[in-house]
Order: sequence, then structure tokens, then C-alpha cells
Amino acid sequence: MREGPHSTEDINESVGGDLFDRYFTGEHTLTKVAPRTWFVMADYVGLTAFETDEGLLLVDTGTAESAETVHELIRKETDAPLHTVVFTHGHLDHAFGLKPWLDAGEKPRIIAHENLPRRFRTYMKTAPLNSHINSVQFGISEGISWPHEAGEFAWPDTVYQERLTLNLGGERFELFHAKGETDDATWVWAADRKIVCGGDLLAGILPNCGNPQKVQRYPEEWADALEAIASVGADLLLPGHGKVVQGAEVIRERCLNTAAALRAIVEQTLAGLNAGKIHEEILATIEIPPELAKNWYIDPLYDRPEFIARNVIRKYGGWWNGYSSELMAAPMPQRAAEIVKLAGGVEQLAARARELKDSDPALACHLAEWAALGAPESREAHECAIEVFEARAEDEIALMARGIFNHAVRRSEEALEALDEEQGS
Ligand SMILES: [Zn+2]
Repeated sequence: MREGPHSTEDINESVGGDLFDRYFTGEHTLTKVAPRTWFVMADYVGLTAFETDEGLLLVDTGTAESAETVHELIRKETDAPLHTVVFTHGHLDHAFGLKPWLDAGEKPRIIAHENLPRRFRTYMKTAPLNSHINSVQFGISEGISWPHEAGEFAWPDTVYQERLTLNLGGERFELFHAKGETDDATWVWAADRKIVCGGDLLAGILPNCGNPQKVQRYPEEWADALEAIASVGADLLLPGHGKVVQGAEVIRERCLNTAAALRAIVEQTLAGLNAGKIHEEILATIEIPPELAKNWYIDPLYDRPEFIARNVIRKYGGWWNGYSSELMAAPMPQRAAEIVKLAGGVEQLAARARELKDSDPALACHLAEWAALGAPESREAHECAIEVFEARAEDEIALMARGIFNHAVRRSEEALEALDEEQGS
């Protein structure tokens, strides 16, 4: 066990680097953060155990993979029976670590927002889709196994709508519903200990609120939730990812600044929509005000401001992007083949893509993708796509965007392998 917290400056300091540096510790640690309160960092997921006179309250359980270790770490500290489990949301990294507790004979009450069981049912319908999305997002080529049998989920026995007060051993724990990354979020206010468990609402990066491959996220409601967290006056914020935040003033400032960044994106997007701008015009002008963007905990390491803007567009507008030919578009490979022809051949197109690689990487990616799609039998086209998308991925700080650029690299690598095989046979 680690003793903690240490000095406030140490605790609140940025670890810097990219998302992996900030989140992935590669180890499992348990820190006593307050009397009868332990924060577990299970590689990249944070969860909390509160001991009360009536038993243990767990806020989140981590991943299935980390579950045994998490269970052991907490059981070394306390043998209070597991009384209640609260899930901050139904994602794989937070709500899938209960098995070892149940296997040990514990019979906890399981509490979540009423939308959480619906999420589990959606997972059961979309396991292959989620497996594919996440392998692209995290750059893993083989499919990630996704739960899909009813027995793989820890179904809550108690759900609530807006707010729920728990009384455990004479102590009050307030559960608040929020929408942010998901529509089933809960944050927990342990008023007597002045501790907030924030789930993924405040995670030391620009909120993951625009994910290009996933369902609707909620920037305005996310800002509401952060402002609500800021208002309770917590001394310690225990997050679902990243480091704990200590000190009422720091917590308040981070919550309010992060909320303000989200609000700025929403306002700019709505202003653009109301001005009749088309999507790409809106996206090109989205900017988090510099006085907010300078804060390391708003760095767009996972998601990007313009991806969040796209979610605002999706919420308030339709999907048509403003270009009439795109309404019922010719298939992209067909368009690409035409462009290859007009360019005078794939060599010319690939050469121009390489020429633009450093000065205009976005444009270079279009050209490289047209080459690969328009001339799928051309080694030159795929080599160019690999080079251009690899360079783009390397310069990209948002994990979500990097994953998709690397996906293009892998597709062209696979195409080259297939061409090699064809030639060999
Ligand atoms: Zn998470």
C-alpha cells in the first residue's frame, strides 16, 4: 500500500507526455487517500473503496483483466463485507471487475443509473461492431473480445434517475446522474469525507466527447456535470483515469475550465450552424480559447475539439455535409479511379501526395487515399499511402485520430501482402 496523499503540488502536477504516458502505469497500486478510503489505480483505470460501519462501498470495479489483482489489493486492507457497488458508467474498463468478489461469496447491492442496463443490452447486440471499433481506435489488429452473453454483465439490482442518496453506516453518499462520455454516468459525492468520485467526467485531458466511431456524446451536459462537481467543494477528486486531484480550489478550477472549453466548442458550433455554414467551414474555425487551452489538463490527447463539434452538429443538425454531390455520392473507389486517370496515372498522384506530405498533410492524405483506392493493384499507391498516413499519425497527438490514420497504414500493408501473394502464386 502507498501512503498518500503526498504534497499537493506533487499530486496535482501533470505527468506530461501523451495519453499513454498519462494513463497507462503498467502497474496496479492502492493508495490510502483518506481514513478508510482507498484509491486503486489498476494500470489505467481508477476505482475507489470506502469502508463504512455497514460494509464496503466500491465505486467502480475496473476491467475484467485487472479484477483479481484489484480484489486482492483491497482485501489486504480491509475485510469489511462488500455492501454496495456503484458503477460510474457501463464501459468495459469500469463495470466488469466484480467477478472475483462474487466468486468469494460477496452479495453486494449493485447500483447504477437507469440507462446502464440499456447500455449492456446494446453491447449484447453489437459485440462484433464494438470489437472492430476498438481495434481501430487502439490500433490492435485482431478483434478485441467484447462481452455479449447476459451472464458476462453485472446487472444492477437498483437503478435511479436523477439523484440517489445512500446511507451507509450512518454516512451519506450522494449519487448524481450526468451525461458526458455516456448517457448512463454517475458521480459520487462522499460529503462527510469531502471526496468526489468523478468517473470519466474529469480525467486530466480534453473530454472524450467527440469520438469519431462511437455513439452520441454530450458536451453541454458534460459541462453541466463539471460545474455541479465544482460546486460541492470536494477536497479530493478520484478519477476514472489519470491522477487524483487534490485541493478544493484546484478541483474547482479544473472542473470549471474544462466545462468552459466544452461550452466554447458548443457555442462556436451552434453559431456556425445558425449562420448557415456548412460542416467543414464550422470545423475549420473551432478553437478552444487560448487561456483555457494552455492548461495541460485540457490537452486534446484522446479527442479533438473539432470531433466534439461534430457531435454538436450531429445533435442539432443532419448528416448532409453541404456538398450536393455527396448527398448520393458515387462510390469512393470509383471517384478515386477517375482522379487517378485525370492525374495522368497513379505515379503522378502519389508523387504529388508525397510532395504535400509536410506542407499540407490533410491534403496529402486525400491524394494518397485516392491513389490506394483508385489503383488498388498498384504497389506504388499503397507504399505512398503507408508513408503519408504514417507521417500523419506520427504528428498527431489525439489517440483517436492516430488510430484511424494507422488503420489506413495497416490496410495498405495488407494490400501489399495480398499483392505479394498473388505474384508468388
Ligand atoms: Zn473509462
